[in-house]
Amino acid sequence: MALTVVIGPPAAGKSTWCRERARPEDVIIDFDLLANALAAPRDGASKHDHPPAVKALAKVARQAAIDKSLTLTDCDVYLIHSTPSDALLAKYRRAGAEIVVVDPGYDVVMARAKEQRPWWMQPVVKKWYEQQGRLPADVAPKRALTQKEKGLGHEHRKNRARMLKAHADGTLCWWCGEPMYREPSRNFDGMPLHADHSHARANGGVKADRFLHDLCNKQRGDGSRDDTPARPTYVAPAPIGNAMDW
Ligand SMILES: [Zn+2]
Repeated sequence: MALTVVIGPPAAGKSTWCRERARPEDVIIDFDLLANALAAPRDGASKHDHPPAVKALAKVARQAAIDKSLTLTDCDVYLIHSTPSDALLAKYRRAGAEIVVVDPGYDVVMARAKEQRPWWMQPVVKKWYEQQGRLPADVAPKRALTQKEKGLGHEHRKNRARMLKAHADGTLCWWCGEPMYREPSRNFDGMPLHADHSHARANGGVKADRFLHDLCNKQRGDGSRDDTPARPTYVAPAPIGNAMDW
């Protein structure tokens, strides 16, 4: 008996790979097929999406099939296992298994997953490539920039403090035209002033040189709309107190 453990992301073509190689007397242990054999008919349901009870039973059946298959002598066994743990892989190897990775590539697999599998399969695909260290560089998750990398480190804070000292309360915000105050609660958005880069950081600006309301800064974004500054959508709270006109 030869044991072949076939690993790979969902929609990689593992079942097809096994079917193409197995002889009529051989065995293919495929979780999805076992689960579908145990499931009641569900019109329109995906063949890769199983109810919890079915999954639990299929897992037991699969394990029983694996255990028994290791004792067989008159057939070859193909075991489909998307992501076995390292411990399990070691166990399979000790049992003399050949480990085969079926992976036609991230783009092919992702396109198939989108087309043929339930939507939640896409993050599973991505995770598989991540775990295997096979995720293409242009898909790799981008690490969030640190404050320093954003140019907002120590120098920026020092510069902001200097600017705040020199700030004249009531100076109008160049974006919205409303007054700007040192004291956050006096600003229309109730937030501390944002030390702004007239040369937007997205375009290489490194030193803050003016203030902007925090909300205005968020609206400004990367500076691409600097020619159309506008009052942010902000509704001033109604004045408190007796507003009756005597
Ligand atoms: Zn403003």
